[in-house]
Amino acid sequence: MLLKYQHLRDAYEHVRADGGDPFNVTFDSVVSPTEARLGGRKVMLLGTNNYLGLTFDPSCKAQAAAALQAEGTGTTGSRVANGTYSGHVELERQLARFLGRREAMVFTTGYQANVGILPVLAGRGDHLLLDADSHASIYDGARFSEASVTRFRHNDPNDLKRRLKHLAELPGQKLVVVEGVYSMLGDTAPLAEIVAIKREMGAYLLVDEAHSLGVLGKNGRGLAEQAGIEADVDFVIGTFSKSLGGIGGFCASDMADFELLRLVSRPYMFTASLPPATIAGVSRALELVAAKPELRADLWRNASSLYHGLAAAGLPVGPTVSPIVSVQVQDPQIAVLMWNRLLELGLYVNLALPPATPSGRALLRTSVSAAHSIGEIDFALDTIIATGVEFGLVNEARHLTAAQ
Ligand code: PMP
Repeated sequence: MLLKYQHLRDAYEHVRADGGDPFNVTFDSVVSPTEARLGGRKVMLLGTNNYLGLTFDPSCKAQAAAALQAEGTGTTGSRVANGTYSGHVELERQLARFLGRREAMVFTTGYQANVGILPVLAGRGDHLLLDADSHASIYDGARFSEASVTRFRHNDPNDLKRRLKHLAELPGQKLVVVEGVYSMLGDTAPLAEIVAIKREMGAYLLVDEAHSLGVLGKNGRGLAEQAGIEADVDFVIGTFSKSLGGIGGFCASDMADFELLRLVSRPYMFTASLPPATIAGVSRALELVAAKPELRADLWRNASSLYHGLAAAGLPVGPTVSPIVSVQVQDPQIAVLMWNRLLELGLYVNLALPPATPSGRALLRTSVSAAHSIGEIDFALDTIIATGVEFGLVNEARHLTAAQ
């Protein structure tokens, strides 16, 4: 039965031969947004997507705890049966208000939001145009859809235009799907150019703001807010599991009849709804996104320090300053060794290996949080640079010059 995975077992054993298991890290306990205990030792967390550090916010925890006490541990039902409580509907209204949209629909995860929305927007005879570096949930949503799927080169509006032109004579709706911030390298979509093309070619646009909600834009509404083109985005997807510190996902839109999607989206209908405690904690976190812009300021201060510090030491980081800062490593085996060394030195980062990475390179992926102190970012910088020197990624002389 499982023989087809033999090649995977061999590769996995190779990865684990160097010490830890990067894909099966089990924390003894996570004690704050930036600290955990692992194998009896303290480690600093630098790879959690906990952009605003809200997982431990006292008011989010208190609101979640109150809902837990009042309404129990779970809903034991789907949104279309017994699983819609007033909290679910209020959170949908709050999201719609926050994003300036007519309506929002809450899903049980961000993954399910994409898998639940793409197939019902684009069906047989329609066309989905996906950025090549799209998240797995977008690809899986496209797979569930009966639409034709076209990939365009990552962040390349000219390639998108060329492909839309090819489809211009064909019947069916065209839906372009992009992300706000891309999760591997932290780069952002060129939204203004994409909007100009979608207008010219008569396509619809969906933006997955999973990594940009709460992170970008004056009010934290995401890349579309920052780019000043929110009115041209037809569907916004987002998740509660990153800046909002919970779990869940949503889609928001101004489309007429959007509420009918509740009756056709299988990942919305055929799974249990979010527990009341999660809904309550996320609702408070969304209030904090608006009420505490200083969280975004702290996040970007940390992002900038880490990005510029690593770049100055000569480490190959992504193209732009972002809360996701990835060090690209040519040789996957070296990346695994470096990941193990970082952990030995007390720093947890994400390891991403091809084929899950863009351009086939391994990544030591870090993500910063507003909750990191300046001292923690300095520790991370020292640790990553020292490891870069040890494994030959950083020229020691250049590093010393940069540090002076
Ligand atoms: N969309 C994108 C762009 C993502 O990066 C992710 C998660 N990494 C998701 C959707 C899925 O979100 P969740 O983990 O909340 O299910």
